[in-house]
Amino acid sequence: MPTSELASLLEHSDTAGRSVIRDAAVSAGLMWKCRNPACGQHNLRAEGLCGNCGWDRQGRPLSDDQPGLYVAPDELWEQLREEIAEHLRREALEPLPDAVTFPWVSGSDTSPWSLTELVLHRGGTTMIHQTALGGTEIEETLDEIALAVEPSYLEALRIMLPR
Ligand SMILES: [Zn+2]
Repeated sequence: MPTSELASLLEHSDTAGRSVIRDAAVSAGLMWKCRNPACGQHNLRAEGLCGNCGWDRQGRPLSDDQPGLYVAPDELWEQLREEIAEHLRREALEPLPDAVTFPWVSGSDTSPWSLTELVLHRGGTTMIHQTALGGTEIEETLDEIALAVEPSYLEALRIMLPR
């Protein structure tokens, strides 16, 4: 069943029906239930993170997601964390989001991740943020990380921001 049909089915059910449909959808692998004890939201299969609290489907709180076959040196990773936090502060995005995802972009000459469209995470809430990172130190750091980790096709990069 396409997830849009499942969403529509849930939308048109009463509370009791919804709970039965959700349980069946989890059993069938169409949905997953958030393992955060304080949450327990049902999420559609396509969602990698809980839409309510941001935990992943393995039950881990929102965290760094390093793509690639290899691990980037910690210094590089921490450098990116500081640089992107600083960049967002300059864009007056305070309080800072919990994390930023750099989506994969194909056909890029330099960074395999987007330099213009970021995903900002605040708990389980995400929003697209348009920006311009071309020619910045962040682009250089992303290039260095890409060289170090060798990301696979479609692998996004997610980094938590300092509190
Ligand atoms: Zn959750």
